[in-house]
Amino acid sequence: MRALVLKSGKLSYELNYASAPPVPPSKSPLIPVRVLQAGICETDLQLVAGYMNYEGVLGHEFCGIATEGKYTGQRVVGEINCGCDDCEYCQRQLGRHCPHRTVIGILQHDGAFADQLYVPEENLCPLPDSVSTEEAVFVEPLAAAFEILEQVSFRSGDRIAILGDGRLGNLCAQVLHQQAGEVIVLGRHQNKLNRLKNFGIETAFAEDVPAERQFDFVVDCTGSPSGMESALSYVRPRGTIILKTTVAGTQKLSLAPFVIDELTLVGSRCGLFAPAIKALAEKRIEVTSLIDSRYPLEEGLAAFDRARSPGVMKVLLDIGNE
Ligand SMILES: [Zn+2]
Ligand SMILES: [Zn+2]
Repeated sequence: MRALVLKSGKLSYELNYASAPPVPPSKSPLIPVRVLQAGICETDLQLVAGYMNYEGVLGHEFCGIATEGKYTGQRVVGEINCGCDDCEYCQRQLGRHCPHRTVIGILQHDGAFADQLYVPEENLCPLPDSVSTEEAVFVEPLAAAFEILEQVSFRSGDRIAILGDGRLGNLCAQVLHQQAGEVIVLGRHQNKLNRLKNFGIETAFAEDVPAERQFDFVVDCTGSPSGMESALSYVRPRGTIILKTTVAGTQKLSLAPFVIDELTLVGSRCGLFAPAIKALAEKRIEVTSLIDSRYPLEEGLAAFDRARSPGVMKVLLDIGNE
């Protein structure tokens, strides 16, 4: 089958990629899913840069058609963490932290930039007709935005700053604006900020907002190693920094402010799919305006170049037909 494969730090398009099915630890049957569309994510760019030392087929944001099992013939999306069902995390519905897990397109599990991938049946979520295939590609990143609501309790009147007007910043802003409190997005691109203004969300250029430690919550969606430092300059004492950025490599950071100002740091990654699918089905969250461009799978390397260029939102890969 056709696939975009990462090997020894190099991404290549292979026409006859022969994959052994992955071996996730769960007892749930492994279902072949024929991929329709997939999205390139910041994490994919980081993986190519060496994050996680991953080798194999990339791609964890996808929509496809199940070709076996109880969802045969239906459009599905798949939760990317494949847990064991047995450990204490899995028992508490936290398979995203299962120490035995594989992660689709990220950890020992071939991903979705290919004609087909394998997903444990229990990870599959069938889609309602009201969610289009291209919208469904955003379920995974949108679930990551909803994850914040699982982790943190907001009180009315809380002031929330979101650093970054890119893909994840946009989704976090839409979710928190609706369900958390008073949101402002601090970004660098007029066109991206305008898009958020259209949703009634307050925006500003980051350099225009004085770092006066005025926010109860600061969400770092910058995707940049410097995001944490700016978050520290905006969060008020006793406030919370929610870290969404993952970068390859190690950063230097003084921990003293966390003690002196009694800050809370919340790392935030993947979320449950159900709230994201529901929000898309009810048209509460808008995602299609984030699509920058679409490429066929065989032009995957060009698609990655595009996704890497500054200011670009979501690049989609068209892989199969419905
Ligand atoms: Zn992602
Ligand atoms: Zn487990």
